Amino acid sequence: MAAAAMRVSFPEPDIALITLDAPDKSANIFSRHVLDELDSHLAGLEKRTDLAGLIFVSAKPGIFIAGADLREFAAAKDIQPADTVAMCRRGQELFRRLSKTPFVTVAAIDGMCVGGGAELAVWCDRRIMSDRPQAQLGFPEVKIGIFPGWGGTVRTPRIVGLSNAVEMISSGESIDSRAAYAMGLATDVVPAERLQSAAIALVRAEKASGDYLRDRERWSKPIEMSETELAFLGATASAYIQQQTKGQYPAPLAALELMLGSIAVDETAACVAEAEGMAALFGSPISRALINVFFLTDRNKKDPGVTDASIKPAAIKSVGVIGAGIMGAGIAAAGVKRKLATVINDASPEAMQRGVRNVLEEVSFNKLTKGADVQRTLEFAPLINPAVDDIEFSTCDLVIEAIIEKPDAKQALFRRLEPKLRDDAILASNTSAISIGRLAEAVKKPERFVGIHFFNPVRKMPLVEVIRGPQTSDQTIATAVGYCKFIGKSPIVVNDGPGFLVNRLLLPYMNEALELLLEGAPIKDIDKAAKAFGMPIGPIGLYDVVGLDTAFHAGNVMHEAFPDRVVKSPLLEAMVKAGRLGEKSGVGFSLYTGKKGKPSPDPALDQLIAPLMRETRKIPGKEISERLFLPMVLEATRILDEKIVRDPRDVDLGLIFGIGFPPFKGGLLFWADTLGAAKIIEQLKPYQHLGERMKPTPMLERMAKEGKAFYG
Ligand code: NAD
Repeated sequence: MAAAAMRVSFPEPDIALITLDAPDKSANIFSRHVLDELDSHLAGLEKRTDLAGLIFVSAKPGIFIAGADLREFAAAKDIQPADTVAMCRRGQELFRRLSKTPFVTVAAIDGMCVGGGAELAVWCDRRIMSDRPQAQLGFPEVKIGIFPGWGGTVRTPRIVGLSNAVEMISSGESIDSRAAYAMGLATDVVPAERLQSAAIALVRAEKASGDYLRDRERWSKPIEMSETELAFLGATASAYIQQQTKGQYPAPLAALELMLGSIAVDETAACVAEAEGMAALFGSPISRALINVFFLTDRNKKDPGVTDASIKPAAIKSVGVIGAGIMGAGIAAAGVKRKLATVINDASPEAMQRGVRNVLEEVSFNKLTKGADVQRTLEFAPLINPAVDDIEFSTCDLVIEAIIEKPDAKQALFRRLEPKLRDDAILASNTSAISIGRLAEAVKKPERFVGIHFFNPVRKMPLVEVIRGPQTSDQTIATAVGYCKFIGKSPIVVNDGPGFLVNRLLLPYMNEALELLLEGAPIKDIDKAAKAFGMPIGPIGLYDVVGLDTAFHAGNVMHEAFPDRVVKSPLLEAMVKAGRLGEKSGVGFSLYTGKKGKPSPDPALDQLIAPLMRETRKIPGKEISERLFLPMVLEATRILDEKIVRDPRDVDLGLIFGIGFPPFKGGLLFWADTLGAAKIIEQLKPYQHLGERMKPTPMLERMAKEGKAFYG
């Protein structure tokens, strides 16, 4: 029998208190067992006529209920629609009893209350919240491809109005206690230490006024709303959702349609519609893919980067950044925002001035007012130390180099700097492509040297590759991982190798786009196929963003490493020679000289491409898509074979966070598993004349033979 996940007590003779406290877990979760347990406690309590109220609290710091058990959801691969309906009906019927008890029910929330937890809360008569920022209410179900299925879409619009409910449920974003109070979802907001006594007082007040009984009656009926209001809300919300989801995520629109369709019916019929609507989403390929992304992220949060659990990351309190360019300024700002004292310098005084200004601008930005905030400037400016001498780095726990991408320059810097650093300081490089092993040749303590590869722009991109050199110690890896997490990033540990993980996987995709172009595929067809697959930007558009010179140099490094399969495109070289470097030079594959630098087609490009064209055939979208994405899978099998990463899930998280691989496909290898190794080999067959880059790898052949998948 599972250990009890909740306990019942009576702080006053007529007040029952259910304390949610799942044993040995940091969060309360609604698994089947927990629902059963709640069922049996309720069965006992609802018979009692002497109770004035039932209050729910959580004993977990910062968490009320974190939602349903997603492991049970993930296991529901082949669930039948009737079983989904039954699962929803069961939750609805259980929670609904909270709105029928002979006493007042109150959820007293002092932490994250989301998903199934928020549904329990909305079935209670009242919700009272603490004023701490952790106290949040939300329905994140759309983020895993479903909508609330235990009555959330029924009760929420009845309590807060259809418009508020649509916004909460179809965005999946949580709201804090102030917002919950403002929309009437929370009756009161009080300091955490007074939460329980305020909940008891609320029970007494409700008992005396009988207001809760009138609300029970009102909320069980259809919602009153004028036709005009309803049509306006439907049209605006639907247009907004379609623009946000690009038709690739069905759940938000389904939630909207469900709620619009259910306003004219009573609570019972609305619950039935919710359960039936859920059957189309629950267990669907998109929902399963999004649940996988949830698990990838969760695993990443818990991954210390090393297998030896006894190794703990050292605290990083001060950081040094050398090179105040695009990346250096971004890295410095990320640390300053988390209150890390930061020393920064640059060989060029102008670059230093610009860099420090950029750091200040970024940390002073107030998201709410969308402008500079003097208060923030005053708070953060003292943390930035523009250094004039290397000795100023002697106080740093970690120094990250982000200077020009030249091995000699980086090695010279390390030789000069290392003697000035503390013995226990970590030295890191943000290099995009140079081997960490090669750079480490210039340092005396290679065990304390590591790659910490941020992505551009640092402010937006969550991924960081922590690159283990041949001699990097576990302690250094654990500390680098800890630092990345501290500044809010998602680090994955990768072994040293050309292109590390993400750039190595990106290259076959980018390269193939140029090959397709020279065989006759128009740019717009290539980018369209990639976007139809779900990429945020097509590969040709991406060349212009990354910079064609950067792509050219990276391509050369990869060609040297893998000459059998990395084609050196004459087009890239010609583009760079013609000064077409992409957005930064105002012209690349597109022109960026128009309004707000938006891309427009450049008629002059044809003259440059024409002499290089090999064929002019019409290439179908299917071929473009297969040739862009299947070689990525092949490269991933080589990466796994070479143990560049510790787990296939690192490949998937790296691509989602590093290049925006579509989350609704669950990750590159998760998607590959939906096809299966045998089918991938089949799909590669028409492209065998293109050589090694389209040839199934030994790992893929083996998987096809043994019927194996990347996710075991
Ligand atoms: P950048 O040109 O914007 O900045 C580099 C800065 O380093 C310049 O301000 C330059 O004056 C300074 N510098 C050069 N030599 C120096 C030295 N010896 N000492 C001190 N300062 C010196 O370049 P960036 O884009 O910020 O790239 C920096 C590093 O980050 C490179 O290794 C690059 O490969 C890597 N990187 C770049 C990106 C990207 O998209 N730009 C992404 C990931 C990693």
